[in-house]
Amino acid sequence: MNLPATELSELPLRLEQPDFPARPDHAVLLSATARMVADGSAVTKADITRTLDIARSTANVVVDDLLERGLIERAGNSEASGRGRPGERLVIAPSFGTVLVADIGNRSTRVCVSDLSQQVRAARSLDIGFEDAPDQVLAAVIAALDDALDSSDCDPALVRCVAVGLPASIDIRSLPPVIRRPTNSLWDGFPVTHHLSRHFECPVILENDANLRAIAESRILPAHQLPLIYIKMGTGVGGGIIGREGRLQRGADGAAGEIGHIQVHSALEIRCSCGKYGCLQAIASESALLERIRSRTGENPSATTESNLTERLRSGDLVTAEVMHESALAIGEVVAALVQFHNPARVVLGGALIEANEETLAVVRSIVYRSAHPLATRNLYLGQSLLGRDGALIGGVISAIEHALSPDRISSARPGESKITFTEG
Ligand SMILES: [Zn+2]
Repeated sequence: MNLPATELSELPLRLEQPDFPARPDHAVLLSATARMVADGSAVTKADITRTLDIARSTANVVVDDLLERGLIERAGNSEASGRGRPGERLVIAPSFGTVLVADIGNRSTRVCVSDLSQQVRAARSLDIGFEDAPDQVLAAVIAALDDALDSSDCDPALVRCVAVGLPASIDIRSLPPVIRRPTNSLWDGFPVTHHLSRHFECPVILENDANLRAIAESRILPAHQLPLIYIKMGTGVGGGIIGREGRLQRGADGAAGEIGHIQVHSALEIRCSCGKYGCLQAIASESALLERIRSRTGENPSATTESNLTERLRSGDLVTAEVMHESALAIGEVVAALVQFHNPARVVLGGALIEANEETLAVVRSIVYRSAHPLATRNLYLGQSLLGRDGALIGGVISAIEHALSPDRISSARPGESKITFTEG
């Protein structure tokens, strides 16, 4: 099935600036300027000079270098703002290349091709996912991305970065980073980045899917609505944390935000898929809801599936509402502790079931406001995801573009070279 690119209608979202020291070197200025041109936040030399607070002569050198490298190009004059004269408008050169994203879910996968201005050129959907064997999944992902590149007339030799989202923890200390899922021996430690970087000959980013969703949700909001905690309720329960300065918080090893395995009182007797007892995921995931519905109604497993949970909830099925309420209480318990500990400006709940009924959000909200300190909830906004299931793809597009436009990658791009010199990472 082809997904219409217009589904991703909120783009372009804000790109984060690279670390900006008091005396930024040329590579940092190239990266900062390219990212502003790419997300449209500063598209004339005057805007760039003002936003980066640099000398006009420095801005001239940076813009000329980006033009010479073929990364940006002139696109006529911009509208004059206020009393200023109209300036020459700069855009990312379409010929500079594309980024690719794969959002691998448990049973389905979505992939897309985007240019560096966040315009999605083609997308595909696949009935294969994390429950299948990794070599099969990656072969299908590569074939779908090749097909999408072909149909969008994008040159495969100009792919700048591939971002892959997966419902698993990523060990960021390993080089290259790998999946850590001891209960899934097929994917645990599997060299995902190696397979993709060998085929597309470019860097590959591996990221937990809830982290990608957290990145996307944070960029659709004004920068002051941070820190943000994103919680995804799906086949499992996952989370992502965006710090006050706009960066994803990975922790020491990559496990930050994995809220599905925090212990809750109501789940102490239930065994989680990780092998331990009492995890939030063991009571609040869609799989856990299904188990309880089946055991209370004696229904045949084929009659109760994840795909009809939303339908059952909407039709007012009492048992489904009851187990959903139990899951909301457990999520509320964990979110209240997170709010108390982290003092986020925004907590976002995502996932088909949460988006299908207001009740869960209301229960979580009441627990959080009742249990957390007033100072931690004074300015808290607790709401549903704004991007829904597109969040992981959009977060992947943003991460891949920021990587392609990072100081290291840009400064190694030589004029006239079709591709940035490749090093895996
Ligand atoms: Zn667990």
